[in-house]
Amino acid sequence: MTQFDTVVLGAGPGGYGAAIRSAQLGMKTAIVEGRWWGGACQNVGCLPIRSLVHNAEVAQLLTRDQELYGIRGEASLDYGLAQARARTVSERMVKGVHLLLRKNKVTEYQGHGVFRDAGTLAVSFDTGVTETLTFDQAVIATGARPWLPEGVRAGGRVVTAQDFSADPVLPRSVIVCGAGSVGLQVAYVLVNYGVKVTLVEAASHLLPREDPEVAAEVTKAYRNLGVSILTDHTVTSVTQSETSAIVTLVPGDGGGRYSLKTEKVVLALGARPLTEGYGLEQTGVELADGGAIATDRCQRTSVAGLYAVGGVTGASVSAGAAQAQGIVAAETIGQVPTFPVKTLLKKKAWRKGCCASACLPYGMKCWASRWLKIHVINT
Ligand SMILES: Cc1cc2nc3c(=O)[nH]c(=O)nc-3n(C[C@H](O)[C@H](O)[C@H](O)COP(=O)(O)OP(=O)(O)OC[C@H]3O[C@@H](n4cnc5c(N)ncnc54)[C@H](O)[C@@H]3O)c2cc1C
Repeated sequence: MTQFDTVVLGAGPGGYGAAIRSAQLGMKTAIVEGRWWGGACQNVGCLPIRSLVHNAEVAQLLTRDQELYGIRGEASLDYGLAQARARTVSERMVKGVHLLLRKNKVTEYQGHGVFRDAGTLAVSFDTGVTETLTFDQAVIATGARPWLPEGVRAGGRVVTAQDFSADPVLPRSVIVCGAGSVGLQVAYVLVNYGVKVTLVEAASHLLPREDPEVAAEVTKAYRNLGVSILTDHTVTSVTQSETSAIVTLVPGDGGGRYSLKTEKVVLALGARPLTEGYGLEQTGVELADGGAIATDRCQRTSVAGLYAVGGVTGASVSAGAAQAQGIVAAETIGQVPTFPVKTLLKKKAWRKGCCASACLPYGMKCWASRWLKIHVINT
């Protein structure tokens, strides 16, 4: 049994942010990760997708925009190499996370953590061995899992956006279900590699969490790229055979349900906080409506000594907000002055630029939206 001041469960942006800050404040800190050091963001989310989007931008320049940029000759695009680059980017960033954790003297445990109670976490390793950690405080940073409509299973021709980010094989046609920021990135990548893309969204416009004026610009740009857009359409079922997948849709205008056939389906319908499979019920931590862990502004849960950050506190929490919450949790534990998450995000947003969906829950919609619009116009 090993005792720590702080144990962090999950090494995504929320978890490693909390662990590093906790160690910097002089606390003996451990972090436990079962699968993805750097979390969904660095392994199957933001980073690999951004890398693919960059490849797609280059592809767009070399194919559609050749005349505009005075490029001569025929480009040949290799999506397998674009995927390999995305994997390299991801691996490099994961190494960076380990480096930062080591530099700050955070003890790393590669294994699956399960709470036994509000002061004990059992870590199971691949070898079958289990080690028990005890702690004064713990930060729960287990993230979120993709949300799938009832009865829909991922596998085969039907994949989540996480699976897409690591799949080197291009289909001839795809239906992307969900036109939030993730679905749009998937559609952008695929259409620029010559795939026939249909984008389906239940809300009345693309990017339902952004301003309609931003969505209108994006819609125009995507239509110009050749993406078929179906807004106000709800996905009711997704089935597959050996040769194709079928998506059944119900239009919001009262029209009858109908089906579309495609080679592949990418589900980008949002996420749900991950609150099962790690003994949360043994701690007594309360959940809010919607199934996320309820916290106060300093990331305290309903149980003294237990904190929660990132996707587990609300699946739409962005990577930047998750990291900011991790820092706030650690500074609250360390009893040093801290900032509201909004302030931390604002600093980051001004420095690097930030997407509107990251800032929206913190009342920063207008500025961020304007940035997004400028970006869209530029592409
Ligand atoms: C395809 C895709 C694209 C995205 N693009 C963007 C983007 O452009 N910008 C943006 O801000 N966000 C984006 N996101 C969202 C972003 O990935 C999340 O906001 C971010 O990862 C949340 O961080 P987190 O630390 O809360 O959780 P996660 O990153 O999900 O990390 C949680 C970690 O906890 C680990 N874990 C869970 N349970 C246990 C356990 N019992 N034991 C051990 N380990 C455990 C998991 O393995 C995981 O590594 C994207 C997501 C996806 C899927």
